[in-house]
Amino acid sequence: MPADVSALIIDGRAIAARVRGEVAADVERFAEQHGGERPGLATILIGDDPASAIYVNGKQKACEQVGIEGLNFPLPAGTSREEAVALIERLNEDPAVSGILCQLPLPDHLDGAELTGLIAEGKDVDGLTPFSAGLLALGRRGLRPCTPAGIMRLLTEAGTELEGAEAVVVGRSNLVGKPMAQLLLSANATVTMCHSRTRDLPAVCRRADVLVAAVGRAQMVKGDWVKPGATVIDVGMNKTQDGLVGDVDFDAVKDVARAITPVPGGVGPMTIAFLLRNTLKAAWLARGETS
Ligand code: NAP
Repeated sequence: MPADVSALIIDGRAIAARVRGEVAADVERFAEQHGGERPGLATILIGDDPASAIYVNGKQKACEQVGIEGLNFPLPAGTSREEAVALIERLNEDPAVSGILCQLPLPDHLDGAELTGLIAEGKDVDGLTPFSAGLLALGRRGLRPCTPAGIMRLLTEAGTELEGAEAVVVGRSNLVGKPMAQLLLSANATVTMCHSRTRDLPAVCRRADVLVAAVGRAQMVKGDWVKPGATVIDVGMNKTQDGLVGDVDFDAVKDVARAITPVPGGVGPMTIAFLLRNTLKAAWLARGETS
């Protein structure tokens, strides 16, 4: 790419708005076919972490905008394990609830992995239970984690060829890195996963036709880490004195990459859009149908 040509900036806000529009239309079709019944998303918010409350409000508002029933269950910080388990079991049985989301982090006396793992397989709209992770690893149909699923849509919209491509994922969290690698693998990319012990990370990143950074370190990926013409997806959300920045040095990388996501306005908006999509998908699947 000539030095004066900048990368395609992948507009996550616009693409997420399109996904929400698709979901809203399909929610109407679902309601028409099921006597006015709508998919329902139950959010469980335990304690008074202000950031968690903002996230849950955002998810509830997003539900309302696409016609999904939002059901919020705020519980006090002192909620016992038994009370939390009883709520999840009740929601697992409730036919009005298509999807259940337990907002993390939880107060210290509760185990987020344990409680999340109790969500019924068909209602795991975050795609984070061991069962959902197993389905993904086996390449079987299931609910996929929202952020990596949203990234796959961004890659499609950016016209990025995945078949046979070298994909490098930096970060191996259960939330982003591992499911991202699995999804890229299932799209026939050749996938390398990197982490804090990877030797010569810049050299590994330079091999990538598709580079996904999900680390949580501000502007770690530099311009000379990127192969000219690569697609670069920046998952990072780092609060700095200069505001929110990603894991990628955007200004340097945009002159090397073919396409790049900005922060904010790239991956972030896709996560909630795919939560809505998963809730709708769960509602169809609960009736033995696919949308
Ligand atoms: P995480 O659980 O903290 O995982 C970070 C990963 O980065 C780990 O695998 C870690 O390696 C690796 N890492 C740390 N330092 C490294 C280094 N110097 N070189 C190479 N790898 C390194 O984080 P996460 O939950 O995946 O989130 C990652 C970032 O994405 C955060 O900024 C988060 O806020 C953001 N995020 C955004 C969205 C969204 O919707 N936009 C969603 C989720 C997360 P080890 O395993 O070896 O420790």
